Amino acid sequence: MKVSIVGAGYVGLITGVCLADKGHEVICVDKVPERIAMINNKHSPIYEPGLDELLERVIGKGTFVATLDMAWAINVSDITIVAVGTPYREQGIDLSQIEEVSKEIGLILREKESYHVVCIKSTVVPSTTDTYIANIIEKFSEKYVGDFGLCMNPEFLREGNAIEDFMNPDRIVIGANDNKSFSAMKELYGVFKDTPILRTNLRTAEMIKYTTNSLLALLISFSNEIANISEAIGNIDVQEVLTGVCFDKRLNPRINNTLVNPGILAYLAAGCGFGGSCLPKDIKSLMAFSEKTGYVPEIIKATIKINEIQPVKFVQRMEREIGDLSNKKIAVLGLAFKPETDDIRESPSIKIIKRLIEKGADVFACDPVAVENAKRLKSLDVKYSRNYQDALKGADACVLVTKWKEYESIRPDEFKQLMKTPVVFDGRRVYDKALFESSGIRYFGIGLVEERN
Ligand code: NAD
Repeated sequence: MKVSIVGAGYVGLITGVCLADKGHEVICVDKVPERIAMINNKHSPIYEPGLDELLERVIGKGTFVATLDMAWAINVSDITIVAVGTPYREQGIDLSQIEEVSKEIGLILREKESYHVVCIKSTVVPSTTDTYIANIIEKFSEKYVGDFGLCMNPEFLREGNAIEDFMNPDRIVIGANDNKSFSAMKELYGVFKDTPILRTNLRTAEMIKYTTNSLLALLISFSNEIANISEAIGNIDVQEVLTGVCFDKRLNPRINNTLVNPGILAYLAAGCGFGGSCLPKDIKSLMAFSEKTGYVPEIIKATIKINEIQPVKFVQRMEREIGDLSNKKIAVLGLAFKPETDDIRESPSIKIIKRLIEKGADVFACDPVAVENAKRLKSLDVKYSRNYQDALKGADACVLVTKWKEYESIRPDEFKQLMKTPVVFDGRRVYDKALFESSGIRYFGIGLVEERN
């Protein structure tokens, strides 16, 4: 099929190259000329493992191209997938990118004679597609829903694992209020054989995305709450607690004497909070929208609150353990919100760095791929080190925030050799406390406080 995708960011670009690799003809549209030029030169504007190779392949095959020309892209395609950003701003979801694109699509559809399906992939609060977006496209196209198709197809890919996730989906949710548009979407996704397709109405599809993200965020904040209670009591290791919980056969069945270890259990882990471009803004948007409708979502509210205090508590812990932070050289390992991505949006690392700077610390940060994005945050008064060795050199303390493999494998003797005082605050519980302490390192992990007598 011929598909146009509006928004060549993380979701739009991955969707585009994957559908092109599966045999569709794809045109990706964006409004940033440099982005389009880079993509057509086979260089991804974002870091995502395997993306450059896939881009090279599909451009080489002639099944993928990027353009600034939305009218052309829509006129030569049967389906348009909308994947522009939907950030959270103060009072709720910011639909300005969606509004702009919906107007443009409407104007283009006014002139287009053949049937066209518009599919919203951006995460939008329930009822946005069948009211807000439908109204705008109807107004500007001077046509009614039905004359053109309108679907909602939430995306579940995870940055860092995006191509694998898109190519091997666990489910494809298609919200459609009529059979004609649903059939077109079903044909598009027919290339993913054996994947269950769940058909719902438009609002339910929107709600599935928010519910998934709320559940994942809830598990993380729940684990952090248990960590905080464990720290307050003392002599309880939250990691052992959660491991103990995860042996429960209702969570983790044993088949042929082997634990299944479902992926969801990875979210039962304590740390310095969740970040990224989805979880924080999605649950805040759902909360704000829910409150507008008259229902106060207490669990989601608490999930957000715990996530906001987690980096604050982490820095307080540092002060408790090593005293006044002013003029101390602190090495921060990791800027990205999680490994295998250069995305720093809502990253706990940035929140921790800001607090350390407020306390007068001299912060040296490193990250394998996210430094360039962090440098764009002009207000962040941090020194960037080329690698972890440089960051650790002469440091009074080290904070591990992002679980990059290369940081996980730093040996205790490297910390000892490089740092002025080998003190490690492990925000992700990746190091072995006993090994570090027997090597002469002061080690502090989240959810683990020795009882002080
Ligand atoms: P992004 O900011 O990386 O990309 C959005 C792109 O849209 C940008 O390249 C921007 O230039 C382009 N754009 C904006 N307005 C445009 C216009 N008028 N015409 C053409 N292009 C325009 O955003 P993203 O991370 O890809 O997220 C997109 C949507 O997908 C959001 O709703 C997000 O919540 C959702 N989502 C994101 C992820 C993720 O991991 N990033 C996962 C699932 C769902």
